[in-house]
This record gives sequence, C-alpha cells and structure tokens, in this order.
Amino acid sequence: GTAIMWFRRDLRLRDHPALRESASRGAVLPLFVIDPSMWGPAGRAKTAWLAATLRALDASLDGRLVIRLGDPADVVPRVAREVGATSVHVSRENEPGGVERDRRVVAALQEIDVEGVATGSPYAVDVGSVKTRGGTPFKVFTPFARAWRDHGWDEPTSAPQGVEWVEADSDGRVEAMLDKAARECPIGLPAAGEDAARRRWERFRENALSGYDHDRDLPAVEGTSRMSADLHLGVVHPRQLLHDLRGERGAGAESYRTELAWREFYADVLWANPHSAWQDLRALALRYDEPQDAIDAWRKGRTGYPIIDAGMRQLLSEGWMHNRVRMATASFLTKDLHVWWPVGARHFLDHLIDGDLASNNHGWQWVAGTGTDASPYFRVFNPVTQGRRFDPDGTYVRRWVPELAHLDGAAAHEPWKHDDGYAHGYPQRIVDHAQERLEALARYDAAT
Ligand code: FAD
Repeated sequence: GTAIMWFRRDLRLRDHPALRESASRGAVLPLFVIDPSMWGPAGRAKTAWLAATLRALDASLDGRLVIRLGDPADVVPRVAREVGATSVHVSRENEPGGVERDRRVVAALQEIDVEGVATGSPYAVDVGSVKTRGGTPFKVFTPFARAWRDHGWDEPTSAPQGVEWVEADSDGRVEAMLDKAARECPIGLPAAGEDAARRRWERFRENALSGYDHDRDLPAVEGTSRMSADLHLGVVHPRQLLHDLRGERGAGAESYRTELAWREFYADVLWANPHSAWQDLRALALRYDEPQDAIDAWRKGRTGYPIIDAGMRQLLSEGWMHNRVRMATASFLTKDLHVWWPVGARHFLDHLIDGDLASNNHGWQWVAGTGTDASPYFRVFNPVTQGRRFDPDGTYVRRWVPELAHLDGAAAHEPWKHDDGYAHGYPQRIVDHAQERLEALARYDAAT
C-alpha cells in the first residue's frame, strides 16, 4: 500500500516516529500542505523561516517533498485518493487550532476509508501524560518538571532506511510562493534544516553549555542555544537534545533540561486550558489602557528605556529576542503602559521566528500575572535595574541602540544622567517608571 506522511511541525527525517510508522506500512508520499489562510497573515520573517526549512527538508528528500495548497481537510483526502493511499501519518498536534483542523481532516479521511494515524508529538513527554496524583493536569511548574523527569522519554531513532518514496507533483504556485517568502524576508535568517540545526547545537554544547546556568541571563553574551526556531518547526526533537545531555550532571546541563521542561509545561497547560491561548488563564479583572502612540513606541523600540528599546529592536532585526529581555519588554508593556498582554503577544508572534503559541502566550501571561505559576502581579520589573544587572557594561544596549553608542559602560542605561545623553537623537522616556509602577499596583489592588 501507499502511506502519506503529512509533515507539519516535524520537518525532519531523523528521529521521526511518524515517518518510521508510515514507512512500515509501504511506499511513502511525503506531503506538506500550505494553508493560504495561515501563510498570508503570518509574519514575513516567520514565513521565510518556514519556507527555508521546507526547502531544506525537500533537499534531504532529493526534491521529492510534495507541497500542495489549500485547506488540509480538502487537500489531504484529495492527495490520498490521487495516489491510492490507505493511511495518512502525522505527529500529534496539541495547539487548539491544530487539534480542530486534525479533527476535520480525520473525519474527511474516514469518509473515503483512509486511516489517520498519529504517532509521537513535538514533545519529549506527550502532552497530557504527566498528571498530579489526583489525576489532574499540573498548574505549577516545579512539581510538573519533577514528574516530567520521572516519566522519562524514549530514545531517539535514526531515519528509516530504504524507504520507497512515491512521487507526485507539487502545486504549480508553490515555487513562486517560496521564492517570494525568501525575497520579502526583512531579516537575515539563520541557516535552516536538520544539518544546520545539528551544527548550531554542537556549537552551543562546545562553547556555552558549561556556563549556561549563568550566562543564559546575559543578553550581550551568546550564552543560549538558539534552538527555539528549530524546535518550533520540529527540525530537531527535544528527545534528541535530552539524549545528547544524558550523563551530563553539570549545572549548565541541569539548567538546560529545566528550560526544555518549561516548553513542555506550557504546551501541557495550553492543552488542558485551550481558552488560555488568547484569554487570561486566571482572569484578574484589571483595568487596561490602549495608548496607541505608546504601544507604537514600544513596538519600534523608542520608549526611552534603553534595555527595552534594545530588545524590541533585536526582535525586529533578528526575529529573536533574548529571554531576559522578553521578560523585561513584556513587563514594560503590561505594567508600565497598562496594556493587556495579548496585544504584546500578537506583536511577538508576528516577528519571532520561534513564535510559538504555548511558549509565547504563556510566557506573556507569566509576566502579566494572569498565568499559571505566575510571577505575582505586584512584581514589576524595573527596566533600569534589569539593564544594569544583566547588561552591566551596556554592551547589549549599544549593539542595538546606535543613538546610545557614545555612552560608556553602564551609562548607556541612564542617558538622562549624562549631559550628552540625548546628543544623538535617543527619545525621551515616554512614561515615568516609578509612577507607572504605583499605578499598576493601585489597579491591582482595585481588582482584588
Ligand atoms: P535556550 O536558553 O537555549 O533554551 C533552550 C530551549 O528551551 C529553547 O529553545 C526553548 O525551546 C526552551 N525554553 C527556554 N526558555 C523557555 C521558556 N521560558 N518558556 C518555554 N520554553 C523555553 N519561546 C519560544 O520558543 N517561542 C516563543 O514564542 C516564546 N515567546 C516568549 C515570550 C515571552 C514574553 C517570554 C518571557 C518567553 C518566551 N519564550 C518563547 C521563551 C524563551 O524566551 C525562548 O524559548 C528562548 O529565548 C529561545 O532562545 P534559545 O533557544 O536560545 O533558548
């Protein structure tokens, strides 16, 4: 028989349980479906990253990846009929939109008597399988992480050998769409594909893993793995990373495993609470503002607070922002500008190449104080203290904010203290942090 391997957020050949399952059924047609209703609205950097990753997957299949356009509930059954497939294979999807789409596709396949088979998922431990002793999903990270480690994960597997690939044409419009995505990409992308991801990972292990527990908080340092955009598209599976770290007992490796656990925790929380994608997990009933000019200044990196502006500009230039600065910029929007977190979460998803509904929107809720395990609402990040503490000599700020490049050391964090602080056009602060902090606390008191 013929089996269809329908790729989604699992764009790799190695360590791919669904691909192995499809190959065990017979000849395999490798399929990707571009849904124009999602391709268009996604940010241009993210679309280009997906396009580059698809090109890399296609190259590793010697040009056999079949890419079609349309609603998967129409396209997948049509391709199945076209090639006489008896089964369609996927890695399980957990985001609310993906779950709903898969329900429609499976129903359409049932009508034509084709089996839909889900094997594996984007997570080391399948979402929903770690539970409290009472059988409920975890609401707090630390006990989740403990149970997640106790649960353990499978060993990675190699790419299936000797697969008989089935060939079919891609949609004639696809080449032009991928080219256009690459041409219109506003940023320089990292190298895409499995081999590039592996090199990135090896470089991190050699250069930064041992100091990761400390350096991961310093945005001026290349102290993190930059694996997030690959993990998001499943170019590498976390199981492989965890496998490579086995036996490593150092604080760096421990800390790295914990960060991967955060990714799995947020996926689990979103799965258990689908409404929390765009609504407060725990509603605070706060009063929010919509200060359009201030929101625009935040988006462009022109708030007058150096660490905030550096981060927002890194986001626009790289499609990535350092975690420490994601927290600081999210705090600034929600606590200093009193804006509801989805406004910021949307902007991040439009620009991040690692943009991930669960990690992003729950990262935002953590900062905003509406999420699980949230940092309490009254914890308001001080943008100046954050800058001085985590970018002590101002290197990160000077890298991203050229108007402050003339200020030495930590002076870059406080241009208002220097006669020539504004000599190169850096904007004045749009709000007074001390005052807005009190305002945030007052609103919080009024709501609780
Ligand atoms: P590393 O430090 O090398 O971490 C390794 C991996 O662990 C990451 O690739 C990621 O998969 C995972 N991880 C690390 N920290 C977190 C975390 N706090 N939450 C969940 N997973 C984590 N991460 C995304 O992948 N996509 C997002 O859209 C996203 N949005 C965020 C928004 C906000 C407001 C905040 C505070 C955090 C967000 N994060 C997001 C988490 C984190 O900032 C990124 O995963 C990390 O910066 C990616 O860089 P890295 O791969 O070098 O990380």
